Amino acid sequence: MICPKCKSENVVVQVVPHVQTKRHGLLYWLLIGWWLKPLLWLLFTIPMLVIRLFGHKKVTTKVKSYAVCQNCGYSFIVK
Ligand SMILES: [Zn+2]
Repeated sequence: MICPKCKSENVVVQVVPHVQTKRHGLLYWLLIGWWLKPLLWLLFTIPMLVIRLFGHKKVTTKVKSYAVCQNCGYSFIVK
């Protein structure tokens, strides 16, 4: 690994898990968020459990490798 900025080989690579999660706004939680999930659980307990059991495959955890140059401090993503 060579730093593209200063061509130094003193580069440390860090693997950082990159989880993509959808975040709802405050208004969503005030209007819908607090009752939607319990209501869904009450109505669709069994389907929700099935989704819980098999839904893990849909969650993609991307691992990104960040390289940080110890010489000049330049950081870049390793592909
Ligand atoms: Zn560098």
